[in-house]
Amino acid sequence: MKAITLLGSTGSIGTQTLDIVREHPDRFRLVGLAAGSNVELLAQQVQEFRPQIVAIANQAKFAELKEALSGLDYHPEILAGEEGLVEVARYGDAQSVVTGIVGCAGLLPTLAAIEAGKDIALANKETLIAGGPVVLPLVAKHGVKLLPADSEHSAIFQCLQGVPAGGLRRIILTASGGSFRDWPAEKLQHVTIADALQHPNWSMGKKITIDSATLMNKGLEVIEAHYLFGLDYDDIDIVIHPQSIIHSLIEMQDTSVLAQLGWADMRLPLLYAMSWPERIATDWPQLDLVKAGDLTFREPDRVKYPCINLAYAAGRAGGTMPAVLNGANEQAVALFLDEKIPFLAIPQLIEQVCDRHSADNNQQPALADIIAMDEWARQAVLAASQKISLATV
Ligand code: NAD
Ligand code: MG
Repeated sequence: MKAITLLGSTGSIGTQTLDIVREHPDRFRLVGLAAGSNVELLAQQVQEFRPQIVAIANQAKFAELKEALSGLDYHPEILAGEEGLVEVARYGDAQSVVTGIVGCAGLLPTLAAIEAGKDIALANKETLIAGGPVVLPLVAKHGVKLLPADSEHSAIFQCLQGVPAGGLRRIILTASGGSFRDWPAEKLQHVTIADALQHPNWSMGKKITIDSATLMNKGLEVIEAHYLFGLDYDDIDIVIHPQSIIHSLIEMQDTSVLAQLGWADMRLPLLYAMSWPERIATDWPQLDLVKAGDLTFREPDRVKYPCINLAYAAGRAGGTMPAVLNGANEQAVALFLDEKIPFLAIPQLIEQVCDRHSADNNQQPALADIIAMDEWARQAVLAASQKISLATV
């Protein structure tokens, strides 16, 4: 029986993690739950899974949450705000914390969990991308495991089991291509939010679905792979694979290539991050290669999708640049979802802000530097966005 805590329990990753806990009550026990602001769903989850501690990030919802939990036949600790999330993350005897918060908001709770000696089942990639220079030394110091739950990184991690140190030569990340993979580049000027949220293969939260449409998600995953597996950026490649059956591949020093395959279902990488090194039997649909049909591959279009090059450049620059890239992207995506900027302004704003940061890039940032640069990037995008006209939409 493994004790786990779940951050971001009301989202796409969070609810799928709870599906796993529900299916395997003999394997997993829930210690803590935290979410952003969905009181109704969080309260239902508390009732069903009976955690010892629960927190809501949005302070304004604290009273509502306490009220919603007042009729329970037991008394969990109830907290709010960022301090509440941090407390949930480090609380009790949870061995592993599943990080399903979206964005850099996951950074402080994740660091708190690591400091409390808990393994991290990492879905919240933004935390590692922005905070890599502080997250990785802390992981090493506390001897905890950083277990990838992102499907591509889980695939790589699964393929790496049994590969000796030094055996890995190259990583090949697969990408579905996102909502606009079959649209001509000219049409991207006029996309709507609804168009961008139509992901062909995966049902996910809004922010990552927009990141998939710009291919920034794949760019962020290149940086995530660099931090998780230690390869140079020259040895991390991207290939478009529209069917999303092969979740990524690794090439060994002798040119042998290993891949991990499965239906597009996030529960599988989540389960492996929660159960590693064990393999837990499930009754999920088995892969049928004939039904899957043709598996095809093509080169990513770096002109149509400038976010790919922006992410490689930020990753290579290192230091605080990935935090700036990530913060700028989070703010630009929020503005697009708020109908304040057109789709094509997303990469333009990120590029401007990364360019401005290049003279100040801090190669050995402390946590405070990363938080400050994340905030600076958001403000810089907000300011620059004032000059962008929506007329192009
Ligand atoms: P989502 O929007 O569906 O859910 C986000 C969760 O975070 C919700 O529970 C929300 O309440 C919470 N949250 C939002 N803002 C918060 C804040 N400021 N403080 C605390 N909690 C907050 O997002 P998602 O699709 O589940 O993605 C979560 C993370 O997992 C992201 O980093 C994403 O990149 C990553 N990821 C998701 C998928 C997927 O299939 N959904 C796949 C791979 C990686
Ligand atoms: Mg992914």
